[in-house]
Amino acid sequence: MEIKVLKDILSANDRIAHENQKLLDSKGVLAINVMASPGAGKTSVILQTIAGLKDIIRIGVIEGDVSSSIDTERIAKENVPVLQINTGGECHLDANMVKRALRDMPLDDIDILFIENIGNLICTAEFKIGTHKNLVIASVPEGDDKPLKYPLMFTVADIILVNKIDLLPYSKFDIKAYERSVKGLNENVEVIPVSCATGKGIQRWLKWVTDSKDNIDTEGSAK
Ligand code: MG
Repeated sequence: MEIKVLKDILSANDRIAHENQKLLDSKGVLAINVMASPGAGKTSVILQTIAGLKDIIRIGVIEGDVSSSIDTERIAKENVPVLQINTGGECHLDANMVKRALRDMPLDDIDILFIENIGNLICTAEFKIGTHKNLVIASVPEGDDKPLKYPLMFTVADIILVNKIDLLPYSKFDIKAYERSVKGLNENVEVIPVSCATGKGIQRWLKWVTDSKDNIDTEGSAK
């Protein structure tokens, strides 16, 4: 019985997610769902992306958090459109929350929308919100076993950033083993080691962003 209820919730959610994506397509906006554990560097990656691309691409951000607007305030300093969703306890964003936020986002004035999801590796992967791409950010301090513990997240990822690689010398994190676990779940996913602290790897990530934007312009909707 419970399984049926969950199925109904997810299919209603998928319908709204599809509408969100159609709206974004009609505006030519590429939307990226940013998922990670708390503290992996979601907001830092978004800030690095704004810094690297703001002269060539217009970026907007939706910040999801259980409470507070700390991250929104950090983004707002960069003078890009940013909206806060507080879920008030829910551990993930859903399509309806994003639908409401999209009404207030100036979609005609942006090219790429980053939607920072709630910090966890479980339910955020289950709920579609209407984005074109799933970005998963891992980080060195959280350990290299997360793909084995939370496989769904790594299965739905289009791109994985391994952040905080400046900390590798102080850690047992085995980046080769990590990539092997990831590829076992998701053969084609690209894994980019980065450090938001030193800027290492960020150019490769920015290229992935601009390439994705170019591809979506020609294909309408990538997936
Ligand atoms: Mg954040």
